Amino acid sequence: MLDFTPTDEQVMLIDSVRAFIAREMAPHEEEVEKLGYVPPQIEAKVRKAAIEAGLYLKHLPEEWGGLGLDAVTSALIAFEMGSSSAALAVCAGGPTHILTKCKGEQIERWLKPALAGERKEAFALTEPGAGSDARNIQTRAVKDGDHWVINGRKHFISEGDLADFFIVMCVTGENETPRGTVKRITSFLVDKGTPGFDVRKMEAVCMRGYNPTDLTFDNVRVHDNQILDEEGKGFDVANDWLYAGRVSMAANCVGRAKRAMTMANEWAASRKAFGQTISRFQGVSFKIADMATEIRAAELMTLNVAWKLDQGTCTRTDASMCKLFASEVLGRVVDHTVQIFGGMGMMMELPVQRFWRDARVERIWEGTSEIQRHIISRDLLRPYEQRG
Ligand SMILES: Cc1cc2nc3c(=O)[nH]c(=O)nc-3n(C[C@H](O)[C@H](O)[C@H](O)COP(=O)(O)OP(=O)(O)OC[C@H]3O[C@@H](n4cnc5c(N)ncnc54)[C@H](O)[C@@H]3O)c2cc1C
Repeated sequence: MLDFTPTDEQVMLIDSVRAFIAREMAPHEEEVEKLGYVPPQIEAKVRKAAIEAGLYLKHLPEEWGGLGLDAVTSALIAFEMGSSSAALAVCAGGPTHILTKCKGEQIERWLKPALAGERKEAFALTEPGAGSDARNIQTRAVKDGDHWVINGRKHFISEGDLADFFIVMCVTGENETPRGTVKRITSFLVDKGTPGFDVRKMEAVCMRGYNPTDLTFDNVRVHDNQILDEEGKGFDVANDWLYAGRVSMAANCVGRAKRAMTMANEWAASRKAFGQTISRFQGVSFKIADMATEIRAAELMTLNVAWKLDQGTCTRTDASMCKLFASEVLGRVVDHTVQIFGGMGMMMELPVQRFWRDARVERIWEGTSEIQRHIISRDLLRPYEQRG
């Protein structure tokens, strides 16, 4: 893929997503930011509008009522969605494709209500003692007849305040492998309100309205049929979430970087100092040149990796490079933007500070920059080390 020109259908879809954001999401951005949560009536309104516009299930295959989009088209949409509020994008975003792993009675109980926008899920892997080192989770589910009893704690779980049920990663045993003992991880569907299961809101400086929560499990009983996929397959579920997510996350970063750069351009071309607009000073205009160049590179890399996903040739290094680069470009772009705004960049009355705060978490969640570098360097160096 040496060049990229969107098809007519893609252009139409991008236009409809832009119109949706302008009509349904942009008017509520500042309110959500100020309140620190999405008011239920706004959440319901955005969700209903997304369902009516056919955008709610956009990431799902057609058999589940989705648009069955290829990864490139999904990335084009994520460029647009990324430029808006994460909390509102989630209201418009529908369920994760992982829920299509539901089978039997799980389909009626969890999948269909999620598809209809009646119930919402959250994904719970991270624990106070296990973030990057996700295989070290301690939350344990112990078999008891045809039930399991869960004990442990999760934290930083996004949207736990809005969610009706959770995909919870638990240790269900140990496997002996040539490299030693490894934990068997299983994912369970756990309803909010199950006795012993408590959800508490945490407060973050970023992505206001898209709130992290702390979950405690105190002898929480769940039935065998609450296992998503199969016992011991929890990490397949988690990796599905994380790897596919990295490309759309990169696209979100590109979208946000573009919006920050637009704000920087407008400010630079209107703010005056020393008798001329600051855009006339090389110290400012060269920052804009650097921002535009890096955004172009991140955008093309994201499209290329999405294209490789569609061809079935995307490696985990590709996905990691894409997430690493786009999130770090976004960090540099928002930092330049704040600098171009000067003191006004620090004021709560303008949205620039929000972009700067929100950008910071992109280098941390879904695999920190260090973990992405670890993955990339391990994959690259392995053949050399085996030879040496
Ligand atoms: C706002 C927010 C929302 C989140 N939402 C969710 C969610 O919905 N569900 C969920 O399960 N999780 C969620 N997370 C958790 C997120 O994925 C973790 O924070 C992330 O994986 C990092 O884990 P940690 O915070 O425990 O940091 P740690 O793992 O403690 O890392 C601390 C530092 O050490 C570095 N480090 C660790 N290991 C290595 C290594 N091998 N080499 C080099 N450096 C290393 C890290 O890069 C980092 O700089 C969320 C986090 C935040 C902040």
